[in-house]
Amino acid sequence: MEKKVELLQKRLDRERLARKQAEIIIEEKSRELYYKNQELERAVKAENLARKEADILHEALEFFTAKLDIDEIASHLKSILMQLVPHDHSAVYLFEGGVLVPCGQGKEPDTGGDGAAACKPTISPNGVSPPVQPIIIPNASNDPEAKPWGVHLDSQTLMVVHLFAPGRVVGCLTLESREADAFSPAAAKLAQAIANEASIAFENSLLYREVERLSVLDALTGINNRRQFDLLADREFQRAVRHQLSLSAIMMDLDHFKLVNDTHGHSVGDKVLVAVADVCRRALRTEDILARYGGEEFCFVLPQTDVNGAYAFAERIRKDVEGLRFEAGGRGFTVTASFGVSERLAEDDSPGSILERSDQALYAAKGGGRNRVVMWKPRELRDEALTHAESG
Ligand code: GH3
Ligand code: MG
Ligand code: MG
Repeated sequence: MEKKVELLQKRLDRERLARKQAEIIIEEKSRELYYKNQELERAVKAENLARKEADILHEALEFFTAKLDIDEIASHLKSILMQLVPHDHSAVYLFEGGVLVPCGQGKEPDTGGDGAAACKPTISPNGVSPPVQPIIIPNASNDPEAKPWGVHLDSQTLMVVHLFAPGRVVGCLTLESREADAFSPAAAKLAQAIANEASIAFENSLLYREVERLSVLDALTGINNRRQFDLLADREFQRAVRHQLSLSAIMMDLDHFKLVNDTHGHSVGDKVLVAVADVCRRALRTEDILARYGGEEFCFVLPQTDVNGAYAFAERIRKDVEGLRFEAGGRGFTVTASFGVSERLAEDDSPGSILERSDQALYAAKGGGRNRVVMWKPRELRDEALTHAESG
């Protein structure tokens, strides 16, 4: 009996030991499982993040290739960066005539009023070429290098990313963060990758803008061509009708210009046209419209100007043109121009009607001896003037 108890006790002990060992193994295994699970979760999270980044990048790419509006591209670039590279303020700049100009929402860098006045960005359009890493300035609020970017007083880190187009820098973007060491090398790399996509879009839209600009300008003189003039004149005419404002038009034609060409050659004639266009351009107020209407013919539309104002304006230009001095083949020469002016009448239904009367007045200026300004008058007034002259 005692032996049997002893045997049973031994068996019990063995089973207890086995269970303990099993418990230890289970505990180890479940710990292992827990870590594996955590690892998996991290991997899934990273995968999701990478997928989200890829989705946003893909969407950005599609958007960038589809858009030509510079401000739209800048706003979109900012919103993508907001999602992928955490920061507190951003600004996009593009070079215009060698100077960095802010673009996108509000056109001003988002400086919250702290530093906009000090903002004179300092990169050059030709100074660098890719691959260039974004410039990161860690102590942004105190670093003099960050000052020209107009950083916020509470910004700790500034990142400047170049926008590269083939062969040049089209601009740059800045990201500011209130945190110290806010931008990791990975974040900088991502920001540059996004900026590269945007750069292509910016370059395309800048080219498109240039082509558009050229298509409305006269190639020789750089002032509006006739097509653009018709468009702008129509817009001003509609505005004048709507608000019952005065509006005048001037037709101008160089006198005996054929003789200038015949005497001095066509290229000298071209130089005269350029100089005359410059004189006209300098006389304009911002709202005035000037165009080369034909060969040696120019025209103006002057908003909120009556016929007397237009007459005075034309007279000023007549004198300026007369005062120009040219030289060809060792000989000096001058040119003159004739002008016809008229204003909008209540019955006019297009700017063409005003221009037609100005043209009639120009014809009268030519007939009257050239180098003069003639104001259009209704037929009755003209006939009356003629009768007076005859009886006198
Ligand atoms: P008027 O005083 O009656 O206007 O005489 P005009 O000689 O100026 O007028 P006409 O219409 O006989 O001649 C215009 C001249 O303008 C002839 C043409 O060769 C010249 N012309 C037109 N376009 C250009 C141009 O782009 N360059 C040059 N150099 N000449 C031009
Ligand atoms: Mg002429
Ligand atoms: Mg002519």
